[in-house]
Amino acid sequence: MNEYNIYLQKINELNNMGLEPIKYGETTLGQPMYVYKLSKRVDYSKKPIKVLVQAGIHAREYITTFLLFSLIEYYNVRIFRELSMLNKERKSKYLKLNYEIYFAINTNVDGFRLCTTGLDFIKDNKLKRQLLQINQGNFDFSLFKANINGVDLNVNFDAHWGQGKSNLNFKNTENYIGAYPNSEIETQNLINLTKSINPDITLSYHSKGEEIYYEFYQDNIRLKRDKEIADIIAKTTKYKVVDVSSKSAGGFKDYCIEKLKIPSFTIEVGKDIYSHPLGLEKLPLIFKQNKYVISNILKYFAERN
Ligand SMILES: [Zn+2]
Repeated sequence: MNEYNIYLQKINELNNMGLEPIKYGETTLGQPMYVYKLSKRVDYSKKPIKVLVQAGIHAREYITTFLLFSLIEYYNVRIFRELSMLNKERKSKYLKLNYEIYFAINTNVDGFRLCTTGLDFIKDNKLKRQLLQINQGNFDFSLFKANINGVDLNVNFDAHWGQGKSNLNFKNTENYIGAYPNSEIETQNLINLTKSINPDITLSYHSKGEEIYYEFYQDNIRLKRDKEIADIIAKTTKYKVVDVSSKSAGGFKDYCIEKLKIPSFTIEVGKDIYSHPLGLEKLPLIFKQNKYVISNILKYFAERN
């Protein structure tokens, strides 16, 4: 079974466990874009801390979508466990914390499907020809990163748009910025979702390299705050915080830092020596490295509440 079908099966499986996704939009080809919400409300006089976790914006990096499925199952159980511990251990600031975790499982469903199943699902012959041209005549799309329009969604956001080091001005398997900022429906849907949630922090999962990025033209006060959280993520995952000033632009993390002024991070999972796309057999290790990231971030917020 290909990874796209495993994805559909996983959504079904979660449904059967009572975990229903919320559809927040559709892709260019009309496929649903889903977000899962898990929440814990203990103290009704206080606002919840909101964490938005996003994955799969680059087609071939679909391992990150499967990481989110694992995290959804893990945190679902964890919330029940925390609630049952409340009576005994009321003193813990973390246990008394209200929180909402949002998992936007795949921002580029069309690209993901193309990458894992090839051109067959596309009905429009003109689009097929265009995609083949973008892919230099190759029917193997397994290294594809862009959306179905040949736009790299993670350089399409309105945040220093077009100023990235590797930006391209033509349709391609990666790095094309699009005709104008936020031109793609997937970009717009993710922005609308983010605005409607109004998160305190976002995490964007990519592959690969075991690195964490947190910088995007912040002032010094915010830079210090964001570095502190990046260090927490690094300590948890054993990944490396990359301190060099950002060469990227137009990414989702960039947008959240610039427009929402919140701490936002890119986490690159998987060893650099692995080749793209990372197979699902890599998931157990990646999950193990990342499963406490959200709870350690929530503990950070609990100490400040
Ligand atoms: Zn990526």
